[in-house]
Amino acid sequence: MTQAPRECWWRARRAALLAALGPRDCAYAYDLAVVAQQARRLLRLESIARVFYAMKANPHPAILNTIAAAGLGFECVSRGELERVMATLPAIDRSRILFTPNFASRAEYEFALAQGLRVTVDNAWTLHAWGAIFRGREIFLRLDTGLAHGHHEKVRTAGAGSKFGVPAAELPEARAAALACGAVVAGLHAHGGSGSFEPEHWLGAARELAAAAPQFPGVRVLNLGGGLGVPETAARPPLDLAALDASLRGFRTGHPPYELWLEPGRFVVAEAGVLLARVTQVKGKGERRYVGVATGMNSLLRPALYGSRHEIVNLTRLDAPPAGRCTVVGPICESGDVLGEDCPLPACAEGDVLLVATAGAYGHAMSSHYNLRQPAEELLV
Ligand SMILES: *Cc1c(COP(=O)(O)O)cnc(C)c1O
Repeated sequence: MTQAPRECWWRARRAALLAALGPRDCAYAYDLAVVAQQARRLLRLESIARVFYAMKANPHPAILNTIAAAGLGFECVSRGELERVMATLPAIDRSRILFTPNFASRAEYEFALAQGLRVTVDNAWTLHAWGAIFRGREIFLRLDTGLAHGHHEKVRTAGAGSKFGVPAAELPEARAAALACGAVVAGLHAHGGSGSFEPEHWLGAARELAAAAPQFPGVRVLNLGGGLGVPETAARPPLDLAALDASLRGFRTGHPPYELWLEPGRFVVAEAGVLLARVTQVKGKGERRYVGVATGMNSLLRPALYGSRHEIVNLTRLDAPPAGRCTVVGPICESGDVLGEDCPLPACAEGDVLLVATAGAYGHAMSSHYNLRQPAEELLV
């Protein structure tokens, strides 16, 4: 099928990255060509009728522009995201925007409906309590298929322990609530988690949604969510998109009435972004060697929150041989402020630039001002 992104585009762009960083002590750097390439790979999936980018992964305006130009729509989870996408792309057709919030207020739904956007509802209560705002509207209903997946417990969004969706046993109630308020359920939605490498995961979701669909005669679309995994290192095989497509093509043959939609976030942007950070201090303590850099969990929370791993290299000394294993830490006053454990790095000097790879998704988007430290700004290279 299609090629994975050029492995480590940043290796060939070392000089440009260092020049872009300039005198700064940290920054995110994005390559929009990688974003466009990933978007195109998704659009080539024959089984999928429409692809929406889950913009919470990275809502940078230039990234939204690139993705819109490639032909993807947008999946939004808050009023802020809706406003960002409509401000960045004022001419965008509203049918290219989905609103799939969770435990959002009535006012947020009212805003989205007033904008003419398609909304996904995640429980019967919403339809009972706010029935009038959904009267005569087409809505999607989020199901809990029970099929959780993902790289960490905190990113699994299905199953009895998660707050998301309507489980199969409660569908009759949701159906009755939709009927009572005069809403038409035109699509069913499932999003089981983030970071899956099993092509069959989405087939499982499609089957569960198709099994529920006869209860809702208006359903034409099965939205299989996102969660397409991106390898943390070059050693891990990537998600087999061709296998995913083949399994879903088979599903489509058996279920002709339904269109399949997909809404990945991470897959589109993760590999397009790197975090650059200058070495502040190096330290040996007991057995461990620490390399401190100018920013940490305030810019990239994923390692602290999910134990996620990111490849880290010394961009200043890219070809120098490793001198041992180091723990790369930031300047935040928390033990969890670790960007990487057990990283094979050359001897690092104050001022060197370390590069944290695969940081384009859920990086800057989750950053904070904790410790009153400015998180890394974003640059385009
Ligand atoms: C976050 C989210 C996605 C995207 O998840 P990725 O793992 O980034 O692909 C898709 N759909 C919904 C409803 C989400 O909340």
